[in-house]
Amino acid sequence: MLPFARISIIGVGLIGSSLARAIRANMPTVRLTGHDADPAVRDIARRIDLFDDVADSAGAAVTDADIVILCVPVRAMGSVAREIADDLPADAIISDVGSCKAEILASLTAALPGRTIIPAHPVAGTENSGPEAGFATLFNGRWCIMTPPADADPTAVERVAELWRRVGAQVETMDAAHHDLVLAVTSHLPHLIAYTIVGTAGDLESVTRSEVIKYSAGGFRDFTRIAASDPTMWRDVFLSNKDAVLEMLQRFSEDLTALQRAIRWGDGDALFDLFTRTRAIRRSIIDEGQDDPAPDFGRKHV
Ligand code: NAP
Repeated sequence: MLPFARISIIGVGLIGSSLARAIRANMPTVRLTGHDADPAVRDIARRIDLFDDVADSAGAAVTDADIVILCVPVRAMGSVAREIADDLPADAIISDVGSCKAEILASLTAALPGRTIIPAHPVAGTENSGPEAGFATLFNGRWCIMTPPADADPTAVERVAELWRRVGAQVETMDAAHHDLVLAVTSHLPHLIAYTIVGTAGDLESVTRSEVIKYSAGGFRDFTRIAASDPTMWRDVFLSNKDAVLEMLQRFSEDLTALQRAIRWGDGDALFDLFTRTRAIRRSIIDEGQDDPAPDFGRKHV
């Protein structure tokens, strides 16, 4: 049996449009309604036929929903929740796909007191945004981390988990604060480092911009993929997950200082040991099916 018959998606970007496509592909009888604040995005959603119905307001999109999934930037979640509050059916579940969970849970709970709120975060994405960047297989084999509040209805949690399994994800559950700490290390800090490296290279005066681009295959270009991620989304992530990111950044700075010292004092063993450990981590990620084993990320070398 399907976990939901009528699903509403608010925010039709990379994640919202991928979810709509994945639901269509895996649960074709579900009635799908979508809404985005941007009229141009709504026009695209209609043209590429992502939904059964595209509503012009968030309220109109949720009136007969079994579940509403908010796929907007992290800091827009609370205002969308306030917009839909009066139109939400009494038994509808509210969920979201935001990249940080503690602040979102607090803002959804404040906007929708007494409602069934089951937050989730599909750990899947690309550096592209918008409705045309999405694809139905985005969640295949990826993790979706659910962060239900401690007193959440287990049946509601299971229905949301089943939805994510149906679109190809594996589901894990943890509390919101723990999620935010884990993701600070695995996602937020790497993005911050990529933004820094690419920004620093862009500012260098003694090395010309054309040289940075020309010789980027030395490693730089792999950072530019991450640093091309959506500015609105990532601004919101760092502001929302401030404490966990600052904590991880402190640890990172200490480790960087230790490396700096190893280089300064010619401590080759320290460098070799670290690089051996990091290579093993890359192998574990491939072994767990979280990346392609092809060398150089599978790029074609002609
Ligand atoms: P996106 O491609 O930029 O799409 C977000 C969409 O939401 C845009 O069309 C945006 O319109 C719309 N929007 C913004 N405020 C709105 C509002 N108040 N009401 C209705 N629509 C609104 O972003 P995304 O990558 O799909 O990210 C969406 C969410 O997924 C974020 O919370 C993010 O943290 C999370 N997430 C992202 C990834 C990833 O890798 N991208 C992975 C996992 C989770 P405008 O363009 O006009 O603002």
